[in-house]
Amino acid sequence: MKILVLNCGSSSVKYQLIDISSEEALVNGIVERIGIEGSFLEQEIGSEEIQIEKEVEDHSQAINLVINTLLDDEKGYLEDIEEISAVGHRVVHGGEKFSESVEITGEVIEQIEEVSDLAPLHNPPNLAGIRVCRDLLPNISQVAVFDTSFHQTMPEKAYMYALPYEYYEEYGVRRYGFHGTSHKYVARRAAALMERDIEDLNIITCHLGNGASLAAVKEGSSVDTSMGLTPLEGLVMGTRCGDIDPAIVPFLQKREDLSPEEIDDVMNKNSGMLGLSGISNDARDIEEAAEEGDERAKLTEDVFCYRVKKYIGAYAAAMGGLDCVVFTAGIGENSVTMREKILKDLDFLGLEIDDKANQIRGEEKIITNPNSETAAAVIPTNEELMIARDTARIAGILQ
Ligand code: ADP
Repeated sequence: MKILVLNCGSSSVKYQLIDISSEEALVNGIVERIGIEGSFLEQEIGSEEIQIEKEVEDHSQAINLVINTLLDDEKGYLEDIEEISAVGHRVVHGGEKFSESVEITGEVIEQIEEVSDLAPLHNPPNLAGIRVCRDLLPNISQVAVFDTSFHQTMPEKAYMYALPYEYYEEYGVRRYGFHGTSHKYVARRAAALMERDIEDLNIITCHLGNGASLAAVKEGSSVDTSMGLTPLEGLVMGTRCGDIDPAIVPFLQKREDLSPEEIDDVMNKNSGMLGLSGISNDARDIEEAAEEGDERAKLTEDVFCYRVKKYIGAYAAAMGGLDCVVFTAGIGENSVTMREKILKDLDFLGLEIDDKANQIRGEEKIITNPNSETAAAVIPTNEELMIARDTARIAGILQ
């Protein structure tokens, strides 16, 4: 039983073909530069990598290219399109409508459209992918898996902003949170690694990639998360500022004569590690420059790690205790230095990092001393597998 998992961005389509019985990724690929000159498809099947350069004007052409490549006699994996049992689509924003993954129907498409102004950059390409697949594969079930749904268990006190209440009622202005599929996956894996029941645990999951967020996972459910109405709130990210005094926005708009779109670009694209360091949005470049003594790179690391540490303290208090801190995504899985800086001096929370165990990249491991009351772990995320599992469950495909 094979599930096709699609993640349609504005100019790319990432895909995986997953065998749901073995949970193995059979094919892994991406179409990049959709609608931009120089588009191409890259695909890996085991150690075999191919690249196809082809003009791809829109999502319809991109998904057609994916399916034709999967069916290709030489480069492909499938003999017949019917071998795909279901398609799972990543959808970024489900608003308050979706607290679970759902089978896609005409009504579901309308509901996703209704919340699309909350994620104008993300939901439209997600929807484009869904529409194309329904046309191309009309007999195959399609399931939507939302980045927001895991956080729908947050209590009101965590998701309400102290703005006039009518903005919540009229426009849905509240905190939603993102990266839900990843937070859910790594929290469950952490409980398994600790050989504990997730129902008995208070876990903080740190998804630290280009985009970054934390979640407080109490008894298996998200009770708070650092991203808000949009993925801009919370941590310092590659190019996003995260939490700032909101009064800075009109202040800078006036001083720099910026339109709403321009200030939005400053906060989303020119801030974070890139803005602070003036070097790069990539944590590897920052670490390298910091090691060579660059003061702003050191400051960037400090601000990034301090923000994560503050949230860990806040979420431990919010949950009334802490059993495990989990690190995942590019930085969380790979950066020994950042993990060390974040976890340093947390012994008041009963957490003692094991410096030797922490010297790992991209593998599942507990990185605290065996006698540390509170654990910390590295868990590589696998959002595609979570999407495939949900898709199989909802489409009624037996594992
Ligand atoms: P996203 O999926 O949000 O684009 P990723 O989860 O791939 O992001 O994470 C990208 C980030 O991970 C980049 O900042 C990159 O520098 C960082 N990263 C990847 N490998 C390493 C490494 N070995 N050491 C430090 N940071 C790393």
